[in-house]
Amino acid sequence: EAFIPKIIEVNYIEGSGDKRWSSHDFPWTKELEVNNKKVFGNHSFRPNQREVINATMSGCDVFVLMPTGGGKSLTYQLPALVCHGITLVISPLVSLIQDQIMHLLQLNIPAAYLSANMEWTEQQEILRELNSDYCKYKLLYVTPEKVVKSDNLLRHLENLHVRELLARIVIDEAHCVSQWGHDFRPDYQGLGILKQKFPNTPVLALTATATASVKEDVVQALGLVNCVVFRQSFNRPNLWYSVVPKTKKCLEDIDKFIRENHFDECGIIYCLSRMDCEKVASNLQECGHKCAFYHGTMDPAQRAFVQKQWSKDEINIICATVAFGMGINKPDVRFVIHHSLPKSIEGYHQECGRAGRDGQRSSCVLYYNYSDYIRVKHMISQGAIEQSPMASGYNRSNMINPGSILETNTENLMRMVSYCENDVDCRRLLQLVHFGEKFNSSTCHKTCDNCLKITNFIEKDVTDIAKQLVELVKLTGQRFSSSHILEVYRGSFSQMVKKNRHETVSLHGAGKHLGKGEASRILHHLVVEDILVEEVKKSDYYGSVSSILKVNELKVCNLFAGHRIILRFPSTVKALKPGKSDVTPAKGSLTSGKPNVIPTNAPQPQTEVDLNLSAKL
Ligand code: ADP
Ligand code: MG
Ligand code: ZN
Repeated sequence: EAFIPKIIEVNYIEGSGDKRWSSHDFPWTKELEVNNKKVFGNHSFRPNQREVINATMSGCDVFVLMPTGGGKSLTYQLPALVCHGITLVISPLVSLIQDQIMHLLQLNIPAAYLSANMEWTEQQEILRELNSDYCKYKLLYVTPEKVVKSDNLLRHLENLHVRELLARIVIDEAHCVSQWGHDFRPDYQGLGILKQKFPNTPVLALTATATASVKEDVVQALGLVNCVVFRQSFNRPNLWYSVVPKTKKCLEDIDKFIRENHFDECGIIYCLSRMDCEKVASNLQECGHKCAFYHGTMDPAQRAFVQKQWSKDEINIICATVAFGMGINKPDVRFVIHHSLPKSIEGYHQECGRAGRDGQRSSCVLYYNYSDYIRVKHMISQGAIEQSPMASGYNRSNMINPGSILETNTENLMRMVSYCENDVDCRRLLQLVHFGEKFNSSTCHKTCDNCLKITNFIEKDVTDIAKQLVELVKLTGQRFSSSHILEVYRGSFSQMVKKNRHETVSLHGAGKHLGKGEASRILHHLVVEDILVEEVKKSDYYGSVSSILKVNELKVCNLFAGHRIILRFPSTVKALKPGKSDVTPAKGSLTSGKPNVIPTNAPQPQTEVDLNLSAKL
């Protein structure tokens, strides 16, 4: 069920295990160490920082995959300081750039930026400085638009290059190059021009989110040659992951969760829509939490104010869209809650990554129900979803292929659904496999909901159930939603079922021996596998989108041609059944439909408590 990315042959060299790059004998080693301490105030290097710096200063093209907060900036700011000439940095957001410049100027490192919305005279001033014999800047930041659209800038870069003053080109947030990434920026694709114009200038590409296919895209689009790749584990051992069924009582659940686990601590609640942000915030305020909302339609001053209040601990909780979080460096964020389904696993990983920067234990709780999937899908198709600011400038007219982007988005979302529906596999494994990283679930040490509740698995062949579900979709005319199909399959006599005379359909009740969660996991697996397709039905009532299931005839033949479907289920329920009838079996464990709040300090998982009980009896 997990997504295994394709590993493609490419022209890059693994740098991570290579001793050469960790050597302390480079001619610049001493100077690096001195400046790292004196100028940047760091006592040592973090993992891979020394290696990356040595590789880029040796003149190689370098690709760095390092988690958010890992310290990517130092890997170019320190070389910029000690190298002759100027370092060009391409960064997707003016606000990110301004943060960096402010930081550099505080350290007394001369730096400047150019952006399209800057005063003309101010731009001229900076360009003149670039032309001068002795250019004072060590770093020049620009947005990708500037590089792609301004011939004037390119001329100045050429001029610097001729005078051997263009030390290095840095592409920050390099995943924006790729359509497979979650923050695609068309202008990033034009950055290949830099390598064409300056083939001998080393390029350093940095990102915190890249699957194998994104990395491939970036290397190709930028035209990197024999590039050295540094990557490190994306696992964040101090983050505790769980997915909790989202019910009508979701807000009460969130309030309770915070109260019991993180009262008066700092956190972020990610919401899908602006309306949700405001609703969740006001609800939690009523419950006595110090909280505020943050989204894209607020004016910049308002947003900055809220962010500042939060940074200074004047408020604890921010209810925000994904517009919030970029460049945020608050170390003591103790929880990240997702009130709705994130758009992709990469996005989810990055949003969760804002918790626990200080290495202390923090919670990541995702409230999930299947109808949110329909909602997100609809919003994506309408272009109504708020983007992370990195993906702004996302403009339909200059998109390479809008159709394929929609497809990619839908696929990314589907993987997220599959992640949520999976109540068996380790959450870390499910996330990391997405980054092309192998992970041994036993090293999770029960810090995710699935590892916590499951001790044993059984594998079940569910092919026959799958065939019945497909058959049922056909029998009922391919015009009902998945929840309706499940009702019929499990033998409900609800008004809706009766009204459509489904109680007379031959497969009515064929799945009554199955738990609701079990049947729905199989059905959703069929959607993930593209055997059943979910068609969004438009509705003018905002927020209430419905969908109908159809059969994909192209794929369904596999199912009837002997292709088996095997899913893993926890075997804890089985283990309990032979016990005494007065011991309540742990119903929740086979189904994903039962609230099982994973408090971060729950002493024992429910199922284990029950097992102990039955052992005693
Ligand atoms: P990234 O770009 O990878 O998300 P940043 O470059 O913004 O991360 O760095 C995150 C934080 O880590 C910054 O506050 C930075 O000062 C700090 N940092 C970076 N390198 C070191 C180091 N070697 N020692 C201590 N702190 C560091
Ligand atoms: Mg960064
Ligand atoms: Zn786990």
